[in-house]
Amino acid sequence: MSAQSSARGFASLAVHAGQEPDEATGAVIPPVHFSTTYAQDGIGGLRGGYEYGRSGNPTRTALQTQLAAIEGGAHALSFASGLAAEDALLRAVLRPGDEVLLGNDVYGGTFRLLSRVLGDWGVKLRVVDMSDLDAVRAAIGEQAPRILWVETPSNPLLRITDITGLAELGHAAGALVVVDNTFATPALQRPLSYGADVVVHSTTKYLGGHSDVVGGALVMNDDELAEKVGFIQFAVGAVSGPLDAWLTTRGIKTLAVRMQRHSENGMAVASFLDAHDRVARVYYPGLESHPGHELAARQMSGFGGIVSLALESGEAARRFAESLRLFTLAESLGGVESLVNYPDAMTHASVRGTEAAVPVEVVRLSVGIEDIDDLLADIEQALEA
Ligand SMILES: *Cc1c(COP(=O)(O)O)cnc(C)c1O
Repeated sequence: MSAQSSARGFASLAVHAGQEPDEATGAVIPPVHFSTTYAQDGIGGLRGGYEYGRSGNPTRTALQTQLAAIEGGAHALSFASGLAAEDALLRAVLRPGDEVLLGNDVYGGTFRLLSRVLGDWGVKLRVVDMSDLDAVRAAIGEQAPRILWVETPSNPLLRITDITGLAELGHAAGALVVVDNTFATPALQRPLSYGADVVVHSTTKYLGGHSDVVGGALVMNDDELAEKVGFIQFAVGAVSGPLDAWLTTRGIKTLAVRMQRHSENGMAVASFLDAHDRVARVYYPGLESHPGHELAARQMSGFGGIVSLALESGEAARRFAESLRLFTLAESLGGVESLVNYPDAMTHASVRGTEAAVPVEVVRLSVGIEDIDDLLADIEQALEA
């Protein structure tokens, strides 16, 4: 991107970065490149640096350019899934004996990757409430970790962590500060601008936005780290395929308007639940009663579409989740359609009984972009069920 284009606003970058019309034909949408290999003009004479589909592909390059632009980072790398992205980063950074300090309600798969895959390679794991910086300071004091890994807002309890404060603590201890920005997306929060070193995404969620493509990404500023992770991307090969990369790029173009609507609907759903006498507790950073509300209002430009609630019992929570009709009972989140998830038995089943377990009374809603009256009517009938 030119210096001029990097000064553009978020929505303009999302639509245009990496998306210049095709030079050969003028096609406004750059073609999807399916070729696995590239003609060489004499041995080693590569056109545009492309040699083989695992090491590089123009459609993937376009997505990576777009991702770097929207997160405000120097480098972005895209992968076959969010966990593939996480694995590449962890392998690039960690060595046997290193420790990761993890937020206590991170995505269950992140906990599983660290505990059950990398644990066998000598990687150690400790869990802390990242939204409590005093607790983080104390945990760092015991033994400096190599990585601090946080999700804010967190999944599924929507805890808010002060990224600036966490980055200061982490950097003072020589740790790499990683923020999983899947829930907020760069439309609402840009962690690199608060001092984070790496942003992680499951692009499967809001970035793709239509529940039709699995993918992941890493964005960072440090050249040396980007080179190391890029080597893992090439050498391990969990890359985005061309069609997946293209679908993700198409989704990102509408991210700004989708997040606006997700945030509006999320706020309306949270307020409705908050006023309902069958609901014991609502977890949504847009509510003034949320302990992280003021911080979220400073750190984010909207509160997003994920709303969790607690009912009076595990049984009531299950019944509510199974009684919704417009909200589909399914794992995942971030698509245009509303989904409901029961974390204890679905997304977070792998952390049951651990420090990262989710209370059985909790239900997570991914509020889509449907008409708000229809969503509220569906919630009302399910609460009465
Ligand atoms: C889904 C998710 C992941 C994992 O991404 P996949 O694309 O499913 O591999 C990581 N972090 C968060 C916050 C997620 O929601």
